[in-house]
Amino acid sequence: MIIVMKPGTSPTAITEIEEKITAKGLSVHRSEGAVLTIIGVVGDKSRLDIDAILSLPQVEKTVPITESYKLSNQKFHVNPSEFTVKNTVIGPNTLSVMAGPCAVESEEQLILIAKNVKAAGATILRGGAFKPRTSPYSFQGLEKEGLAYLKTASAETGLATICEVTSSYAVDLAVDYVDMLQIGARNMQNFELLKEVGKAKLPVLLKRGLAATIDEWLNAAEYIMSEGNLNVALCERGIRTYETATRNTLDLGAVCVLKEKTHLPVIVDPSHATGVRGYVAPLAKAAVACGADGLMIEVHNDPVNALSDGPQSLDFAQFETLMTDLKPYVGLSGRK
Ligand code: PEP
Ligand code: MN
Repeated sequence: MIIVMKPGTSPTAITEIEEKITAKGLSVHRSEGAVLTIIGVVGDKSRLDIDAILSLPQVEKTVPITESYKLSNQKFHVNPSEFTVKNTVIGPNTLSVMAGPCAVESEEQLILIAKNVKAAGATILRGGAFKPRTSPYSFQGLEKEGLAYLKTASAETGLATICEVTSSYAVDLAVDYVDMLQIGARNMQNFELLKEVGKAKLPVLLKRGLAATIDEWLNAAEYIMSEGNLNVALCERGIRTYETATRNTLDLGAVCVLKEKTHLPVIVDPSHATGVRGYVAPLAKAAVACGADGLMIEVHNDPVNALSDGPQSLDFAQFETLMTDLKPYVGLSGRK
């Protein structure tokens, strides 16, 4: 951190501030310019009350140098991290594809979809059992029954499973049924829920909030990791912009930024990002080309009659075509 002093601050006042800092076990480096003096602070900033420093009359401002997130920060963990979800590795050497319906609708539906997405090459089955719908009158998910179907579909196909959790009640239930937990966009800053999944023993997919900055997103990951769960992947799923032609705006630039700022794997969800079936395949390819470690794709046996997100869901043939067409991109990215 750097402390910028107000012009004209007396040397005695500067020394007083430096002494306050060194008394906490940190060291200081003073540099005096023609007009301004700045104090560089080195050491564990958590020992300092930064608001108290800011409120001193001689202090112009403080400038943080390292980000507030530590465990998710690439500066402290240089190599990309990877972890295993059942038999699937999510990390820098693979492209992991999570596919399935927006919502689990019935056992037959889920098993049919599971078999088809597996045949096309997906290794993780997605399916919502707790649906955070915009309207309370829309289908809310089958909850425990849906989780049980995910478990059956996994037993039948060998696929790993992922399900969104929306409350601590859902977390407690889901840990016995699925292999990975998802925090949805609407809950990215539900800090109590983040702490809950941080205590769970399953890997977590943390989706980006509808209007979250990358910094806020990484701090949300930090909430999970600081509870002891280091197996976190980030999922870019589009953000709110003024554009209405797509449901959200897919921020592929965020993938590049994340690859510099964090070691955590990055997944891209072009389904929720666009809300339009026809844009899913081109953006999936673009995501692989710019460094994504995996994709989340909504697939339905009968998209027109899906209980949620039909317009963005691929049918089996479309998903199979996408998986075939992705192969050259995956090859070029040096992944399996
Ligand atoms: C989902 O994956 O089913 C979902 C609701 O996504 P998001 O949280 O990104 O809207
Ligand atoms: Mn959906």
